[in-house]
Amino acid sequence: MSRQNEGKVMPIRIYGDKCLRRVSSEVIDINDEIRSVVADLIETMYAKDGVGLAAPQIGKNVRIFVVDPQWFQTNERNPFVFINPKIIFMNGVDTSEEGCLSLPDVVSDVARSKEIIIEAKNEAGKLVQHRAEGLFARAVQHEFDHLDGILFVDRVSKLKFFSLKSKLKRLEKLCDADGINTDISIYNDDQ
Ligand SMILES: [Zn+2]
Repeated sequence: MSRQNEGKVMPIRIYGDKCLRRVSSEVIDINDEIRSVVADLIETMYAKDGVGLAAPQIGKNVRIFVVDPQWFQTNERNPFVFINPKIIFMNGVDTSEEGCLSLPDVVSDVARSKEIIIEAKNEAGKLVQHRAEGLFARAVQHEFDHLDGILFVDRVSKLKFFSLKSKLKRLEKLCDADGINTDISIYNDDQ
């Protein structure tokens, strides 16, 4: 499918940014503004080497995320777009290591459902169901959490969270007075 909107690579909101903790709003109308959020998400996901990216991570509190679980292996871009997603079936448990573009250098094991069915609109407004397993299921659940202001570090054990605390505090400290924290401030901090 050809995309009218060329996406832009957006700064990624980092742990401590208030956008990451808000419950995002349902999309009412899939208009040009929404299609441009989708295009920016796709462009940014690939530019930052992500498997998925949710709108709050680029500062937009709307219920949209994109996932491409395959492109690391195939080098082909086939992004799945999820607008107003609902997880309608979950089965089994699988624990594996996770990271997040909003939490640089932080990884932890997270338990997720092994298999899910998710229903969402795509950018053409069509309601689509996806059955997902493995990395695809994990990425969808991770991105879905972002729409409710939940981060993967909220789902780790107390002991693990404690061990991550100094890294999280360091990220949080980069947040500006308006509650905005982007990966640009991280790069500046490293210089
Ligand atoms: Zn994430």
